[in-house]
Amino acid sequence: METYQTLLKQITPETGTSREVLDPATGEVVGSAPVQGIPELEQAIDRAVAAQPAWAARSHEERSAILNRVADAIDASSEALVELLSREQGKPLNGPNARFEVGACSAWLRSTAAIPMPVEVVIDDGESYAELHYRPVGVVGVITPWNWPMMIAIWQIAPALRMGNTVVAKPSEYTTLSGLALIEVMNSVLPDGVLTAVVGAGDVGAALSAHPAFGKIMFTGSTATGKRIIEASAGNVTRLTLELGGNDAGIVLPDVDPQAIAEDLFWGAFINTGQTCAALKRLYVHDDVYDAVCEALTAVASATPMGVGLDEANVLGPLQNRMQWDVVDRLVEEAKAGGGRVLLGGDPDREAIGNFYPTTLVADLDPQNPLVIEEQFGPALPIVRYTDLEEAIALANGLDVGLGASVWSADAAAARAVAARIQAGTVWINSHGGVHPMIPFGGVKSSGYGLEFGSAGLKSVSLPQVING
Ligand code: NDP
Repeated sequence: METYQTLLKQITPETGTSREVLDPATGEVVGSAPVQGIPELEQAIDRAVAAQPAWAARSHEERSAILNRVADAIDASSEALVELLSREQGKPLNGPNARFEVGACSAWLRSTAAIPMPVEVVIDDGESYAELHYRPVGVVGVITPWNWPMMIAIWQIAPALRMGNTVVAKPSEYTTLSGLALIEVMNSVLPDGVLTAVVGAGDVGAALSAHPAFGKIMFTGSTATGKRIIEASAGNVTRLTLELGGNDAGIVLPDVDPQAIAEDLFWGAFINTGQTCAALKRLYVHDDVYDAVCEALTAVASATPMGVGLDEANVLGPLQNRMQWDVVDRLVEEAKAGGGRVLLGGDPDREAIGNFYPTTLVADLDPQNPLVIEEQFGPALPIVRYTDLEEAIALANGLDVGLGASVWSADAAAARAVAARIQAGTVWINSHGGVHPMIPFGGVKSSGYGLEFGSAGLKSVSLPQVING
């Protein structure tokens, strides 16, 4: 059976420059990551360009069969992948964390392989006949972040491969080993050149996004980097799918049972220790249930263990990197300075080894406090009291982002009516953040554009072609 050490060995560079990767929970060395740059990017592109025609010439059935075998390979190496992911990213083994993430990778591949892609007959009325086909784009560039380094990579790679494209993937420098290990396992099945990883800092991402070889770039990360990719794409009219995170609102209506929703509210906000694009990041609670919701959330949060990922008991971990720890720390300090009432946490050990920030709930916040209006991307949830639903909807819609949102109510019709008025790509009812390989997912406003998942996701990594006549 493969262990994380044997997997690590396969991706450790024998020659060339490398750098040490540290465990964000303990500061221990996890392994060595290669340092690459533009020459390696060019080589990866050459491989992808050379491999693409033969990959595209295979049928959907053949490519799907291969993707299912890739899923089998991930399942066979799952515990090795899980341990490496936990050590490098910091996320615990259990809960919605490392085992969940690696399991989602193979499940996503299988679902993506199973989506039917029939030719669409758009008109056949005796006078006109036209078919809509979806052709490969060519080479797809995949640029991924550090919060879900394996699952988000699969979200982008699986549909791209399924549709006959080859892929050059650039993992985040914060989670290089996780990205490389996943791709190493996938490449034990995939034909040569179909999927190539290239690592490197932002300059490699920048060169990738400006390179004319790419017909399409899939990006998940910050809005600031997304804007740079949009600018870079202009030169080649490169197609883009951009998932740029956000600041998801949750609105709790007065008819809820606070005890019944507390656990789901908690995990909506604290999944992956808050480091999730579509996590609940600001909570608006009606005055009638405000105190009871605060109390119930505090009870769940205090009972949820945080610590080193490899300890089977923990379900919350450290922040993956110090940059993000500093963001959370600054925002919680601003919340305290702005009169927020700390229900839990807010008192990090600044001298500790490891990027742990305690689970934090801050109530009674001014709706314009920075912890509410900026993305914290970590384990600190601001709670805002409201009395007028119109005001809560206006606050939810008041920011420049719109990835997800949620409405919590015992009355499904009332919740749907509120949901329809929220500016977000997905509005969940009585839950937050769940994704499914068949349900389209994407943001509005500065959260990006383009849909992932399901047949919409497959079409987005394809070139539509009409055959008319
Ligand atoms: P970035 O957007 O900088 O990084 C995401 C990916 O883009 C990484 O692979 C990165 O490479 C790459 N990249 C960096 N610069 C460029 C460029 N000019 N052109 C192309 N690709 C580039 O996010 P950060 O890691 O800096 O995190 C910053 C903030 O982004 C967080 O605080 C959080 O708010 C948000 N975020 C959102 C995520 C989401 O899921 N939507 C995920 C992660 C972060 P490299 O790592 O080498 O710099």
